[in-house]
Amino acid sequence: MTLDLPLVARGKVREVYDASTPAAPDRLLLVASDRISAYDVVLPTPIPDKGRVLTALSVWWFDQLAPVLAAHGASSHLISATDVPAEVTGRAMLVRRLAMEPVECVARGYLSGSGTVEYERSGAIRDVVLPEGLVEGSRLPAPVFTPSTKAEAGQHDEPITFDQVVGLVGAPRAEALRELTLALYRAAAAIAADAGLILADTKFEFGRLPGGGLVLGDEVLTPDSSRFWPAATWSPGTAQPSYDKQYVRDWLTRSGWDRKSPPPELPDDVVAATRERYVTAYEQLTGRRFT
Ligand code: ATP
Ligand code: MG
Repeated sequence: MTLDLPLVARGKVREVYDASTPAAPDRLLLVASDRISAYDVVLPTPIPDKGRVLTALSVWWFDQLAPVLAAHGASSHLISATDVPAEVTGRAMLVRRLAMEPVECVARGYLSGSGTVEYERSGAIRDVVLPEGLVEGSRLPAPVFTPSTKAEAGQHDEPITFDQVVGLVGAPRAEALRELTLALYRAAAAIAADAGLILADTKFEFGRLPGGGLVLGDEVLTPDSSRFWPAATWSPGTAQPSYDKQYVRDWLTRSGWDRKSPPPELPDDVVAATRERYVTAYEQLTGRRFT
């Protein structure tokens, strides 16, 4: 696919194009592909419809979260998901171009993955000390802000403390990022709960418009940026069945892939089961059918 727009960046999953016009400067087109990454590597096999699911879900969440953003004097970067080139209909968002904050704003309400590893080592996640006796899947006493750096392409995001965020963006903005991240997490977790899902954790990216307040950017609350678990089967102590990429990660581990050589092609049944997980997450959250 080639769009007649200047390519600004190509990420593992998305392409970013400059969609500015003289009348409407500072616009980007974010195009989600069907690529899937695991352990920071793009796999050779695409997941059909993944780009459309990620886009539709992000657009739905931007709408759901608008009141929370407004209550904090913030907004989202979304301009339109319909006013986009025909070739990328359904998997593209026209957005305001932001100066991105150099922080990945992670909120966790449950212990999982790298959070569990950190907790088992130190009894804390970053500088947030947690009670004893928590296990993989445990609900935390209150949601916590556990930021990381925004790594350059090819690098891994590094966990950082709140003080390091202060060092990067200054105290007032660090406080604002933490507060907005936790407010959005709480609102989204309540919406997910109504749909029978636990939002275990998620990552937001914020930026600013020239002279403006915080703006929520990037994709939001998709299975690529969040862990969703069925509430009905929640049982702390083991890995929870989830709608994110854990299924693919588990298959890769069983395949014997060493995470250094080029990753293997996914078999058809793994592709189909992965697609099903993305579609189910969309349908269960939104109550809409994916078409
Ligand atoms: P990867 O996800 O592969 O680690 P990446 O995050 O750089 O790399 P993508 O997520 O595919 O790549 O691409 C989206 C990029 O666009 C991110 O760098 C993100 O920070 C940036 N971005 C998202 N929204 C905006 C915006 N409104 N203005 C400017 N940049 C944005
Ligand atoms: Mg990204």
